[in-house]
Formats: sequence, C-alpha cells, structure tokens
Amino acid sequence: MRIAEGVTLVSPTLDAERARQIIKNAEPFLTGQHLAYPSDRDGAQVHLEAYFATEAIVQCPESVSWLVEDVVIWMRAKDLRPTVIFAPGTEPVRRFVEKLSRAVHAISVYLETKPSGRFGDTIEGSIPTDASVLTFNLTSLTGGRCVGFRLPDAAARNGGHVVGTGAIALGASSLNEALRRRFPDNLYIAFHVAVTNHNPDACPANAPRLRPWQEASADIIARLRGESI
Ligand SMILES: [Zn+2]
Repeated sequence: MRIAEGVTLVSPTLDAERARQIIKNAEPFLTGQHLAYPSDRDGAQVHLEAYFATEAIVQCPESVSWLVEDVVIWMRAKDLRPTVIFAPGTEPVRRFVEKLSRAVHAISVYLETKPSGRFGDTIEGSIPTDASVLTFNLTSLTGGRCVGFRLPDAAARNGGHVVGTGAIALGASSLNEALRRRFPDNLYIAFHVAVTNHNPDACPANAPRLRPWQEASADIIARLRGESI
C-alpha cells in the first residue's frame, strides 16, 4: 500500500494510519539525488538516486515504539526467538536496537561501521557460539546488501546462527530478489522505498553534482528541526 511519495507499506501488521504518521513526522524521503554511498572509495561504491533517512524516523519516540512493536509481532508470528540482535553500530541504529533487544530479551551486538557508512571487521560485544541471531538494519539503501548478506555473513563468521533478518526500509535494486531467496520466510521489511542506485561508471548525463550521502541525511535532519537548509 502506497502511503506517501516513494514509500510503500509492506508489513501487513503495521497499522496504515500509524505508518502514515511515521512518515509524516519525519519526512524522510528525498528525490533527485546523486549520492556517493559509502562516501569513501575503500571498496565498492554505488551512487544513490534518492535518499530515505530512517535516522530521522528514530528521532520520534512514538514512531520507534510503533515500529519496535511491529517487529516483535512479526518475530512472534514466525516463532523467531533470537538471543542476539546483530546490527551496524551507528547511533540511530542503536537507538532502535536497544529498545528491540529489551522487548525480546536479547542482547545487542554491533558491527563496526565507519563514518563513511562502510562496515568494518570488528564487533562490539560477542555472539555466544551457535546463538540464534536476528540481523537488523534501519535502512538497506542498496536494496539488501547489508541485511541480506554483509550482516548475516559477519554474524555467521563470529559464531552465530542467523534465524532471520530485517530492516525498516528497503531500497529498490536487483538485490531484492536475492534477498528474498536467501530469507524466503524470515525477512522483515516495514517499508519499500523508491531509493535506486547505479554504479559509478554509469552516471546519467543529466545527474546532479555527486555529493556524499551524509549531506542528504543532514538536510533531512535540519528540515526536521525546522532549520533552513
Ligand atoms: Zn553517478
């Protein structure tokens, strides 16, 4: 169900009115972008054509409560009982994951995430051997690389047994299909968002100036706080 420009509600258990309110409170979607993501060149990079700031959504405690509640409903329906929630260690993600972990009596373990948005190798906390792990991110801007592959692979490398994965917002890319194949019945997504990307060697001729993704994020947060941008 389309609930705002570029935003489709896909979680069947999230009330549509609440979903609309979550988007209205944060106005997290920016179109017409050309953003380097991650913003460093220490590995693969894509150019995002729009941006969706779940970091703006988590500024609203009521939105966080509604979304945590919905993820918990999904976990109960699927009978998933992770003892670890494994997620990128950024401040907005922690804000959400700490509440989610408390709600399901799991521990939070975080993967190092650089300011550029690129994952590192170290983890904060430890995953007990064979512990059931739910991997989670607020937004999968690339359409599934983090929640479908990078996070589950890092959790498995560190001794965990991944039972499911989830994100609040999933961007659109050819990875969507591979994500659904790998997690056919244990994938949580609240919103599909119209964030597409292209490879750095395929920039459209009319693309705006390339800028780091953090600038779009900062624009949305500034708008949320009523500052002029
Ligand atoms: Zn480009």
